[in-house]
Amino acid sequence: MIIAIDGPSGAGKSTLGKMLAKELGLLYLDTGAMYRAVGLAVFESGKDFYDAETVARIARQSKIELIGEPDSLQVKLDGRDVSNEIRTNEVGQMASIVSAVPEVRVILVEHQRSLGRNSELGAVLDGRDIGTIVFPNADIKFFLTANPEARARRRYEEDKLRGRVTTYEETLAEINVRDERDVSRADSPLAIAEDAIVIDTSELNLTEVYETMLAIVREVPGETA
Ligand code: C5P
Repeated sequence: MIIAIDGPSGAGKSTLGKMLAKELGLLYLDTGAMYRAVGLAVFESGKDFYDAETVARIARQSKIELIGEPDSLQVKLDGRDVSNEIRTNEVGQMASIVSAVPEVRVILVEHQRSLGRNSELGAVLDGRDIGTIVFPNADIKFFLTANPEARARRRYEEDKLRGRVTTYEETLAEINVRDERDVSRADSPLAIAEDAIVIDTSELNLTEVYETMLAIVREVPGETA
């Protein structure tokens, strides 16, 4: 079974994706982490983020691995654990710049498809283009959304817990810049698949969204988990 979860940043995709994957015994793939790892690799190379050819070469040469259980997912870049490093707002912006390069998308989409297909029971993938491009035939497609203020508030609380120094206003501005870039890029922009189930999480708590999603999954024929 393949479950696609798309939506803008801060809508709760990764938290809910991990919860569903754990409950259903599926592989969890955080595709944003892959774009973040490429962003970090470009940054560390000191090369120009807007030089598409160089960025694509770096993406091709980088070994990106997602290892472990949903709760303790480790992201490795060329064998080095970068799980924490990639979570900053700066790396989020870098990810959104490199993700606009078509060749980067080809490389990562191929990687995501092969990981998803090779997982025995299936996978939950979260990202921006899972239901539209990566797995257009996914068994279930969710599109999680929320107003920018709600998403910024959640991101800000998460950042605070991680000990990051930021303000709500900065977080809101960062989310708006990234959303704008993600919806307006030419290749695979953030879009709602025609057959996606849209859930607006602005006024819902985590448990409410989780239970709604799980109930939908359980209705899929053949789903016994
Ligand atoms: O999901 P996350 O916020 O970690 O993603 C970081 C960035 O990676 C997004 O802003 C987006 O530009 C890019 N991304 C993408 N396609 C995906 C997942 C993430 O373009 N499937």
